[in-house]
Amino acid sequence: MLEGQMMDRSLLIIDILKHAAETYPAIEIVSRTVEGPVHRYGYRDAFKRTAQLAHALKGLGIEEGDRVATIAWNTYRHFELYYGVSGIGAVCHTINPRLFEDQLEYIVNHADDRVIFVDANLLPLVEKMDGRFPGVKAVIVMTDRAHMPETKLANVHCYEELLEGQPETYDWPELDERAASAMCYTSGTTGNPKGSLYSHRSTVLHAFGLLAPAVLPYGIGKAVLPVVPMFHVQAWGQPYAAPIAGTKLVMPGPKLDGESLFELMEDEGVTLTLGVPTIWMGLLTHLRETGKRFTHLTHLVSGGAAIPLSMIKAYEEEFGLNVVQGWGMTETSPVCCAGAEGPEMDGLEDDARHELKLRERKFFGVDLRLVDEDGGILPHDGDTPGELQCRGPWVINGYYNDAEATAAAMTDDGWFRTGDVATLTDAGLLQITDRTKDLIKSGGEWISSIDLENEVMSHPGVAEAAAIAMPHPKWQERPMLVIVAHEGKQPSANELRAHLADKIVSWWMPDDIAFVDELPHTATGKVSKLQLRERFKDHVLSTV
Ligand code: ADP
Repeated sequence: MLEGQMMDRSLLIIDILKHAAETYPAIEIVSRTVEGPVHRYGYRDAFKRTAQLAHALKGLGIEEGDRVATIAWNTYRHFELYYGVSGIGAVCHTINPRLFEDQLEYIVNHADDRVIFVDANLLPLVEKMDGRFPGVKAVIVMTDRAHMPETKLANVHCYEELLEGQPETYDWPELDERAASAMCYTSGTTGNPKGSLYSHRSTVLHAFGLLAPAVLPYGIGKAVLPVVPMFHVQAWGQPYAAPIAGTKLVMPGPKLDGESLFELMEDEGVTLTLGVPTIWMGLLTHLRETGKRFTHLTHLVSGGAAIPLSMIKAYEEEFGLNVVQGWGMTETSPVCCAGAEGPEMDGLEDDARHELKLRERKFFGVDLRLVDEDGGILPHDGDTPGELQCRGPWVINGYYNDAEATAAAMTDDGWFRTGDVATLTDAGLLQITDRTKDLIKSGGEWISSIDLENEVMSHPGVAEAAAIAMPHPKWQERPMLVIVAHEGKQPSANELRAHLADKIVSWWMPDDIAFVDELPHTATGKVSKLQLRERFKDHVLSTV
């Protein structure tokens, strides 16, 4: 091999913030704080405080490779932890405050976290777990002295006190770019949660991936507001991508309702925002009720669950926004695909264009393939569904300390089994149709629960819908739809059947349609089909 003669400089997370401090010192990070007021500072000040935090972490005895837990909202202090913890070579372990107590206990102990950084209003969660985290040596409340809550916990520190008086520079170590930098556990709808352990290299490449395809407008003069939490899947990489691009970062703190989000976006000139469909439903209701319109926002990214076509239409037609769908998982850093923009869209009428936006295009660096139940490779014809497998420099090669889960997730030839069912077009446009564990198989043929949900949700009386498989003596399984009606509306089952009749093939028609007040959700805001199936386990289909 003739070796290239280029410098072997590591891709390190702290260098992103160093770059932003040197290049965009005054471009701001604006946060709605847990204490209430809006906090703002530039990337240069963020870098200085991150150095102070690094000294404080050392003072707490944190060494390279140690896991440092955070249970916190999207704010500047959480941002400092993202960089400070990874910067000294430790691992920033973000934890979802909506997890059940048993999951929390499992995750903190499995990761062997040394200390926990927690927002003041989430401290009761840690107090409730007192005695169940034997390896945790200290708890740091992310606030100032004036706002320190009373607590009976031992060894509690105040974040601002720890930073006070520390030097504003730090001799950041030249780490190996393959060193672990952060970790996140899946919420584990079945079995124990599983840990994805990210590296500096994977994180920086993922951030480049987000910036590269030009589907999302980053850049100077732009402002991004990640509603997607920093406590789960790293806020889809926004805290890393924004500082590279010189983009202002707007953090919503704990207030995620439609009114608070709208207000912050307007006040701070937000041009791009990212979140899950449930959040966008709340914002849409607020906009419709108040008649408000965005002045600055141009792009709204939805991911984490399939966005209903009716929502794409509403945001585009009523509010003039460009809706972009993304696909990813905790295990894939998370984003692998986003946006359907491309020549396929040229000349399309609105309806067809909106429909195409149910798909998303893969990023450079990511390979996707579809596989049948016997491991055979399926065509990318836009039509044939198969299990989605992927690989790439920001996809896990195994779960943290979990040989069994790793063996189940990785193929012999080095691909990751996503557990999603999807179709792919010959131009690399992906559409998720199901989870393998939620599939409905009628007479040996798959029915896409996402398609069914999507079609029924275009009925104005339907707020939320979930399709589940029910046992059937002749067809093995048949679909049933569980519906939450919009407030003040009461669509009948027959009305919904009539609505579906010209939208789906006849054998997809659900055997039963049930109405409930609320659907069960997971810690990440997705409908929990597991719980839903449990709830309807004694239901016998009317067609049986
Ligand atoms: P969990 O919520 O279980 O912790 P993740 O947050 O990692 O898991 O979510 C990953 C899953 O979310 C994917 O495997 C997929 O099922 C679903 N998902 C993500 N994006 C989309 C999308 N654009 N369309 C449909 N489903 C999606």
